[in-house]
Amino acid sequence: MAKSTSSKKGKTTKKTKASEEKAKTAVKSETAKNSKVEDNKSQIVHPNTGEVVSKDSIETVIQKKLLALYTLQQIDTQIDKIRIIRGELPLEVQDLEDETEGLETRTNKYKQEIEEFNQQISNLKIAIKESQELIKKYKDQQMNVRNNREYDSLSKEIEYQTLEIELNEKKIKELEASVEQHENMVNNSSKKLEEMKGDLEVKKKELDNIIADTKKEEDLLIKKSQEQQNFIEERLLSAYRRIRKNAKNGLAVVAVERDACGGCFNKIPPQRQLDIQMYKKIIVCEYCGRILVDDEIVNSVDIEKFV
Ligand SMILES: [Zn+2]
Repeated sequence: MAKSTSSKKGKTTKKTKASEEKAKTAVKSETAKNSKVEDNKSQIVHPNTGEVVSKDSIETVIQKKLLALYTLQQIDTQIDKIRIIRGELPLEVQDLEDETEGLETRTNKYKQEIEEFNQQISNLKIAIKESQELIKKYKDQQMNVRNNREYDSLSKEIEYQTLEIELNEKKIKELEASVEQHENMVNNSSKKLEEMKGDLEVKKKELDNIIADTKKEEDLLIKKSQEQQNFIEERLLSAYRRIRKNAKNGLAVVAVERDACGGCFNKIPPQRQLDIQMYKKIIVCEYCGRILVDDEIVNSVDIEKFV
């Protein structure tokens, strides 16, 4: 809200310069009064070059510098974005690779367990056979017993071995159920593993293509950035590079957004916002040191051109 009010004030100031009668009647701010005084002087000394220029050309010079800087920022931000995206893609492929490897390890563990179950089953089958042989032997011995006590003793042994066989058969059934369950799991994970390996191959190819594509785009943007740097004087350029290097988000030139610095989000006082719109000098954020631009500069740069 306050932002649109201040930019209106800025426009009013410019209109005042255009129409003299309005300027006489309008109640003006301190800045408006100052610009009126300078209007009367018509010529002033350029703060950077020292040459005598008209006031309008000073504003034009600063505006051009800000425009060039903001344009450079947009190009460099696009380069930053490409590098971030390209940095994340290999991680995605790595995740899929890890996932595939994990499933492969689990599948192999199931297979190993199936082998162990089958080994246990064959051991139990051997035990059953031994019990059956013992039963046969005891039954034969029962034919030749001398008394009831011996017969009963053998009957107990036969009963014991019969129970052993039943118990082992029950264990075999349980193990066979486990084998079946594990075989299903192996089948399912093998199918999934095949799909994942296919996905992985596609993703890897995609990654290669994206790396190649973004490299092309990046090279183009780097060329544009270098061309844009030719429009900016070395002193400003090194300041831009220094601020950008120190800023986590790589932003050295930011817009005033909702009365705050677009880089550090600290509030910018109304007078400072007016100063930014006057283009009398390059103004930096007093908190983070980033170069500040107004909406007019932001709207003049066609960001689409660099996307
Ligand atoms: Zn700031």
